[in-house]
Amino acid sequence: MTSNCEHGTFVADVDVKRLLDFPDGLVTSYSTDIRIQCADCGTKMQFVGIPTMGVSNCTPTVSVDGFELRAPIIPCPAINPIGDKHE
Ligand SMILES: [Zn+2]
Repeated sequence: MTSNCEHGTFVADVDVKRLLDFPDGLVTSYSTDIRIQCADCGTKMQFVGIPTMGVSNCTPTVSVDGFELRAPIIPCPAINPIGDKHE
């Protein structure tokens, strides 16, 4: 690791999740968790400007340390599992 790295290339770790209703097992929503770090020196990138920490199925959130963006996603064009149509 070097302190004068210009952070020119990056790697991202992305998890895509299907959130299920119990006990029915029906898909109720989708979510993605994204972590990014510099490929050259390993410095983790923090997500800024996300006002909510924690987990939500309707708004983007960030982990307490800022290193993981958690964002709800929908298929497009889509009718979300709740029944609202998105265009
Ligand atoms: Zn770097």
